Amino acid sequence: MKYYREGQLLRYIGTWIPLTVLVLIVLYFYVVYMETYLMPLIKSEYVSRPLMEINTYLIQLVHINDYVFSNQIMGITISLHIILILFTITLVRVVVTIPGYVPVEWLNKIENEILQMIVNEEKMINQNKKGSQTSTSFSSEVDDEQRNNLNEKFKNELIDKQGRRHCKNCRAFKPKRCHHCRQCKTCWLKMDHHCQWLNNCIGYGNYKLFINLLGYAWVLITFIMITYSRCYYDTMNSYSTDAKLFLVSFTFLFCCFLWILLTAFTLFHLWAIKQNITTLEYCESKPRQQIQKGIWKNIFEVFGTNPLVWFLPIQPDTKPILD
Ligand SMILES: [Zn+2]
Ligand SMILES: [Zn+2]
Repeated sequence: MKYYREGQLLRYIGTWIPLTVLVLIVLYFYVVYMETYLMPLIKSEYVSRPLMEINTYLIQLVHINDYVFSNQIMGITISLHIILILFTITLVRVVVTIPGYVPVEWLNKIENEILQMIVNEEKMINQNKKGSQTSTSFSSEVDDEQRNNLNEKFKNELIDKQGRRHCKNCRAFKPKRCHHCRQCKTCWLKMDHHCQWLNNCIGYGNYKLFINLLGYAWVLITFIMITYSRCYYDTMNSYSTDAKLFLVSFTFLFCCFLWILLTAFTLFHLWAIKQNITTLEYCESKPRQQIQKGIWKNIFEVFGTNPLVWFLPIQPDTKPILD
């Protein structure tokens, strides 16, 4: 109730709507595919065996164990469910994985740099005061206000002269490819973009999982599109009810439309990996800093060096690039 009064609860629920729509789209395809294509196919295989009786549940079970499925249908059913399981695991992992905080050690290193600069400056001030000291009432300590001013001065020096980046929102330094996400209200390492569909930011910590998700989604939708084209063709060339005709046509065309979108999106990200560029960097209007290191190094930076896990929903243990 507390969140509701502050208007936060509705906002929070709103952030989950796109992901819910995404899950519902996947469920829609699954149900329609099973109901209008795979199950009728299995049943037709089933009744095509003339000597079998299909009166009781028990006999049906026996028949299933007797491989009523043909090799082709078996292949389709198993492949579909393997891809679907991999897709679901990856989807959950991308949504719950933290995109990558700026390491505390890195922040401490910068703080220590500033601290060291302040200490050196204080020494200089004290030496100057001692040099000009004429009375015994001299105090060698720099007061808090002066220290704050020095802190501010050296902070600006790091930003202006050394090119360090500073986040006004987090009031903290951030590495070069780190960006602040307004929705997450956090700075993420190598932030790619905030994905509304997944209700999470995509960054250093989950980018590889995101690419895996795109890959599985592309394989899944390509698989459905190719196999379902048979159902679409059969429905168009047979006496079907208007409802079935609409359902099958809509599903197949929606699938083709999503395939085009997903192919373009996946190709863009593969290109971005090759170029070592994030979506945010691509969208920036200012001239881009070239971070090219060679295709393989760029690929290893995202996928890790072990090709065995490239195609599995596992985030590699790569070190973040902090400069
Ligand atoms: Zn920030
Ligand atoms: Zn975000």
